[in-house]
Amino acid sequence: TAPSPAPTGGDALQILSTVFGYDAFRGEQAQIIDQIAGGGDAVVLMPTGGGKSLCYQIPSLLREGTGIVVSPLIALMADQVAALGAVGIRAAYLNSTLDPHEAQAVEQQLIAGELDLLYMAPERLVLPRTVQLLQRAKLALFAIDEAHCVSQWGHDFRPDYLGLSMLAEAFPGVPRVALTATATEATHREITERLQLQGARHFVASFDRPNIQYRIGPKDRAREQLLRLIRTEHAGDAGIVYCLSRRSVEQTAQFLADQGVPALPYHAGLDARMRQDHQERFLREEGLVIVATIAFGMGIDKPDVRFVAHLDLPKSIEGYYQETGRAGRDGLPSTAWMAYGLADVVNQRRFIDESEGGEQFKRNARAHLDAMLALCETVGCRRVQLLRYFGQEAGEPCGNCDTCLSPPKTWDATTAAQKLLSALIRLDRERDQRFGSGQVIDVLLGKESDRSRQSRHHELSVWGIGTELSEREWRTALRQLLARGIVEAVGDYGVLVPGRAAGPVLRGEETVELAVDRTPAKVRGGAGR
Ligand code: ADP
Ligand code: ZN
Repeated sequence: TAPSPAPTGGDALQILSTVFGYDAFRGEQAQIIDQIAGGGDAVVLMPTGGGKSLCYQIPSLLREGTGIVVSPLIALMADQVAALGAVGIRAAYLNSTLDPHEAQAVEQQLIAGELDLLYMAPERLVLPRTVQLLQRAKLALFAIDEAHCVSQWGHDFRPDYLGLSMLAEAFPGVPRVALTATATEATHREITERLQLQGARHFVASFDRPNIQYRIGPKDRAREQLLRLIRTEHAGDAGIVYCLSRRSVEQTAQFLADQGVPALPYHAGLDARMRQDHQERFLREEGLVIVATIAFGMGIDKPDVRFVAHLDLPKSIEGYYQETGRAGRDGLPSTAWMAYGLADVVNQRRFIDESEGGEQFKRNARAHLDAMLALCETVGCRRVQLLRYFGQEAGEPCGNCDTCLSPPKTWDATTAAQKLLSALIRLDRERDQRFGSGQVIDVLLGKESDRSRQSRHHELSVWGIGTELSEREWRTALRQLLARGIVEAVGDYGVLVPGRAAGPVLRGEETVELAVDRTPAKVRGGAGR
């Protein structure tokens, strides 16, 4: 049976229950809705799954005219509009997927006042033609979703968002609300300035997701580790596994399927029908694992995702937070699990070095990566560090992350770091040679090979000075030294050189405390649900 049309006007709580079927507002939704419904502007920072959509959907119903929703996610608009239509809201979208006739029909509905909500991408909205169209219509509000895209230094900059600054002047009486799940202070400031929201009220929700258990461990045959995680803690659960490359997505999905875990791949290289099919199955069926590149998940609203696993290092904390945030939207215990290793650090640095971006872009990307690495290598509470990154003080260690549940042992690695740095300097100075991690570790261990004999490495004063550590321990130490900038990997082959933070360590002015890699088994033992 067709739902009855949504009422316009009336009371926010009534709309919440009669249209959306919920009985109470969450967090600050009620205050945000009041602010916008009353004609004021707002900036809303709320984590993924916090309920941002209602914050502009309900005011659009309460106010006369159409609410214009700006979103970069064209691929999601049709679904969003269909979902609104199903509860009786008159919604439509304008984007490049419509043919001219369809677009014209939507424009006529807008002018005739027959739409509650109209979605469009920023590049469409800033066209003079669209501005003229909107000026002829009665508008309830502008909702600028994914507003962090306006931040040039953020992880997801979209130049078209800058054009949205014109809304303030072009539509003076129309309230504007900017919404994002990115909460760094810098982004917040940029949104406010660039979207001319100086007069807005600001609503900053807590970014803590207490039901998510954060765990980041050393990579050691990642697929096996993942399988162990699924078998021991998440058998039969729905989960998302993120990999960096399409190839690795395919291989991992195949591997899981071979092991009897129902898993489907998802990446931009699959044809649209298959992607759609896999996404729908993930939403509908129970206990499916989707293995995906980051292309997956934007706008995915599945409440019972029990785990999100990263087999590769995300490029930024913002990305990591957004991706892990897709777990446990229903509030039940969930796991954010990640395996990362030395190669991740080296590869990501190389991606940045070799990218097309300018110097500013690279510096930016490096800063994002460094923050991500610091989170990976912290010996303190992950949640505290994560929230601090978003400008929120968490206070006490959380008791629900790997470092809280099984505090890492640390050791004084000052001498080891000095030996490693000396080896890099000697190889460079005395032999004019620079090497990647494998060969440098061979020199430290005095491990003979054809190559070392040929290069007469055994004649170097640093030959075999590091035998107190095993090869594995050196790799662990090296990963952490890379993450802290004491060592850097440069060029195509990731050759190692002393990093920007090497000086004080070499001079003995700073000690280096490193974590002993925990064996995955120990972490598992401590992490009950
Ligand atoms: P966000 O855009 O912040 O990621 P959504 O607006 O998609 O979050 O909301 C996430 C989920 O929470 C949706 O399924 C939504 O229907 C639900 N939701 C939002 N507000 C409420 C509420 N007050 N009561 C119950 N469910 C809600
Ligand atoms: Zn913790």
